[in-house]
Amino acid sequence: MADAFDVVVIGGGPAGYPAAIRAAQNGLKVACIDAWKNRDGGTAFGGTCLNAGCIPSKALLESTELLHRAQTEFAAHGIAASGVAVDLAVMQKRRAGIVRSMTGGIASLFKAAGVTGIFGRGRLLAGRRVEVTSHDGAKSELAARHVVLASGSAPTELKSLPFDHQYIIDSWDALELAAVPNKLCVIGGGVIGLELGSVWRRLGAEVVVLEALEDFLAIADQQLAGEAARQFKRQGLEIRLGAKVTGAAAANGAVTVSYADRTGAQRLSADKVIVAVGRRPYTTNLLAPDSGVALDERGFIRVDEQCRTGVENVWAVGDCVRGPMLAHKGKEEGMAVADRIAGRYAHVNYAVIPSVIYTAPEIAWVGQTEQQLKAAGTDYKSGVFPFAAAGRARAMEAGAGFVKLLASRATDAILGVHIIGAMAGELIAEATLAMEFQASAEDLQRTIHAHPTLAEALHEAALAADRRAIDSINR
Ligand code: FAD
Ligand code: AMP
Repeated sequence: MADAFDVVVIGGGPAGYPAAIRAAQNGLKVACIDAWKNRDGGTAFGGTCLNAGCIPSKALLESTELLHRAQTEFAAHGIAASGVAVDLAVMQKRRAGIVRSMTGGIASLFKAAGVTGIFGRGRLLAGRRVEVTSHDGAKSELAARHVVLASGSAPTELKSLPFDHQYIIDSWDALELAAVPNKLCVIGGGVIGLELGSVWRRLGAEVVVLEALEDFLAIADQQLAGEAARQFKRQGLEIRLGAKVTGAAAANGAVTVSYADRTGAQRLSADKVIVAVGRRPYTTNLLAPDSGVALDERGFIRVDEQCRTGVENVWAVGDCVRGPMLAHKGKEEGMAVADRIAGRYAHVNYAVIPSVIYTAPEIAWVGQTEQQLKAAGTDYKSGVFPFAAAGRARAMEAGAGFVKLLASRATDAILGVHIIGAMAGELIAEATLAMEFQASAEDLQRTIHAHPTLAEALHEAALAADRRAIDSINR
């Protein structure tokens, strides 16, 4: 007889585990099945985000930013820090320890909430039955009133450069390197490529980023992208645009990457190549042929606005469905689905999802870019405030970058906020809240911001949108 649950969640990443916890909070009987296996063979909840994505990358970015600041900023503070040395093994041990405690935390949260956590692989059969294959190969079956699919994503492999996990590596490999490569090639100048490139550049590698598009950070506001390109160049991160990678060959402990740019065929030699060209939805062995759940042409599980798959009481959330591949987007969808299952109201505001790139300076935005507003023919106003004019930023030796606020000329509604500078990922929260509450530029102008703080730059950018900034010249 199959075990019966109100809700079975397949996948315990940042989309699946919040769905499971919220469903349990709603008084439902819940199981969450997760197939994650670490390189040492160990099991863990948390998915890509906790094990091989957001958290380990931020741990290394933090460590290496401290190193970079010691090397480049301490002298300005009058602190002599000669002989700063790196012990990569300690740095990596810290990263692994953070991951271990965070993933272990999910198991504790499950226990406290009454969620049955199961390590193994789930497969949706017809009639909302879920087959579970445990890591030792034993099979069992669960029956569910509702199933939530949260199987996540996997790194995209380039056909011409299959991963060998030694020379041609993915983002997970790149987080766990035991030695600093002399020369590193990063394919893809997106969020993951820039973060990983920054980590290893700061640790001393010579890093070349090859990006197929002609525009740098095409997804971001181009004024922000221009400033980011300048800052990265200053840090020695070499970014080659319009560089389409065509192949790679490993020999004698090095790898030669072939690519084509406007001037013709090129070659680049490196110790390692990180392929960071995006991620694809992961649905391998997830669906029995008669499950009824459909994939779209790009392999995402087809869902409507409310994450319904079209099969009664089968839902899908996170990276395996359309929308930005971000942990917080998946979490919101997971919680919303669990509330819908319990008959409660839920809404995910897809128009107000913040994006953050955790480089130094950080890059963060929410809402529309200036180029999107132009393309849509929206009448907008723009206010820009440089961190160089913010006292706290200067005190922090963090005068690089700016806040840019875009608002409707007709209604004053905030349409987008774009930040490049220290703590941009934290500062964007205020802009996100403002947009969620449909605030106007005037609302931000009339909100008192503590002095001196970085957040004052957002206040001043709102004032600058009406040419009323106090601490910078209105142009
Ligand atoms: P996942 O986290 O991929 O989790 C899915 C889980 O389901 C996995 O544990 C998987 O093993 C399991 N699973 C799959 N199939 C089955 C099955 N059949 N049965 C049982 N279990 C199954 N996002 C951010 O928002 N901020 C960041 O800073 C950030 N940094 C990143 C850095 C890197 C290097 C990478 C690679 C990603 C980063 N991301 C970041 C993206 C983020 O990790 C993903 O958006 C997020 O993990 C998606 O959550 P998810 O739950 O949908 O999928
Ligand atoms: P993201 O989607 O943020 O992970 O970024 C992936 C980046 O990789 C995008 O900017 C793509 O343009 C880039 N990209 C994809 N394929 C290639 C390729 N073959 N060579 C170089 N860059 C690529």
